[in-house]
Amino acid sequence: MTTAHELAAQVRSGQISASEALEHSFAAIDARDHELHAFLYLDHDGARKAAKAVDAVVAAGGDPGPLAGVPIGIKDNLAMRGVPTTCGSKILDGWKPPYTATVVERLVAAGAVPVGKTNLDEFAMGSSTENSAFGPSRNPHDVTKVPGGSSGGSAVAVAAGFVPVALGSDTGGSIRQPAAFCGLVGYKPSYGHVSRYGLVAFSSSLDQVGPFTTTVADAALVTQVIGGHDPADSTSMPDAYEDLVAACGRGVKGLKVGLCRDLLDGADAEIVERVRLAASVLEAAGAEIVDLAIPELRLGLSAYYLIAPAEASSNLARYDGVRFGLRVEREDVAAMNVATRTAGFGPEVKRRIMLGTYALSAGYYDAYYGQAQKTRRLITNALDAAYTKVDVLLGATTPTTAFGFGDKVADPMSMYLSDLFTIPTNLAGHGAMSVPFGNSAAGMPIGVQILSPGRRDDRLFQVGAVLEAGVAK
Ligand code: GLN
Repeated sequence: MTTAHELAAQVRSGQISASEALEHSFAAIDARDHELHAFLYLDHDGARKAAKAVDAVVAAGGDPGPLAGVPIGIKDNLAMRGVPTTCGSKILDGWKPPYTATVVERLVAAGAVPVGKTNLDEFAMGSSTENSAFGPSRNPHDVTKVPGGSSGGSAVAVAAGFVPVALGSDTGGSIRQPAAFCGLVGYKPSYGHVSRYGLVAFSSSLDQVGPFTTTVADAALVTQVIGGHDPADSTSMPDAYEDLVAACGRGVKGLKVGLCRDLLDGADAEIVERVRLAASVLEAAGAEIVDLAIPELRLGLSAYYLIAPAEASSNLARYDGVRFGLRVEREDVAAMNVATRTAGFGPEVKRRIMLGTYALSAGYYDAYYGQAQKTRRLITNALDAAYTKVDVLLGATTPTTAFGFGDKVADPMSMYLSDLFTIPTNLAGHGAMSVPFGNSAAGMPIGVQILSPGRRDDRLFQVGAVLEAGVAK
């Protein structure tokens, strides 16, 4: 499939128009999305208008930008003015945001063409898209398997060749896990690098927006466009990153790579084998491999499942039947609130709201939420200590490859465990990337995960590019 880099170059040089590229994308979606269900909404009119605007700039001899004419899928928890935004939930039924997320505005300013909104687990809570109120998405490598989640629709849209790029959000692994399941590059930037203005909040101390792409260089290009300070998001950092596209060509000579036992133990044998192979590719390219253990990472899952639900219970209080979407009428306001939330939220969202409210309640706060915050500090300290010895960490993205529909629905804990290796970086606020590194014997993609210290995401691109070149051989 054509990469974003290639397509933008073709559009800028007039080899293909943005409108033609868009129609190819719509044709591919028409041909197969009834089966895969990557998209919840296609913005035919808005996309055609955006593509025409790009073509007009090219015709006038101007430069529409580094993503000229690149069709992009947008996870349906990112706002686009006047376009339905559901978060995969019935509670936002009929809501059309009056504003556009900064990341989408930046993409469009760089010439990209948002084609529509992609499917997700309700409010980004889940690991398979089975929690979407509108039905799951399917893995294009095997339609009997889940694509991962919560940004499953975005992963499917890229893996099926509908679009070269899609945006997702990652609170505990929701970009990296579906990227691993679908054979894509998935990147979660360090906390504060990408604006969340217009991202519907799940867990505000963890959420980050990032790209799904087919190449590491494309992930760098997209991040360069969407990243950087945004005055509309007070958590976005003022200082800029290094040139990430340039970092892709830097190589790994002299880089110290920590092969982390606690990002491998519990993973399927064939995944462990692929990670070891990835380490040997890096070693052959001049990196030094250091075996290490960071047992604190094991505490991540339990801390996350207190902190994320606690923040979600607060963030989701705004869906009261008054301000957004659905309202179920009752005789008074309190009864209307209850009826609306009962009808509008699905079982997993309700479970998280109850867990979070309980963890925050007087008398339990110290024992649960307080403990979880202390654990979060321990994990961050342990990672900081590891990064005095190594430059990056290497491990598995997921314990298994893509699983079947229904396999983990009955037992939420088994579903939560699929984020065992991705969650620690969100708690620490660091960047991490999943790079596809071969397939299982059954032909399902395997992802290798690279972790870096906060705001040294350039190293992820250095390592990712070498792995990508190494696996192709
Ligand atoms: N699967 C995790 C959860 O259910 C992470 C989700 C995410 O990163 N948005 O919370």
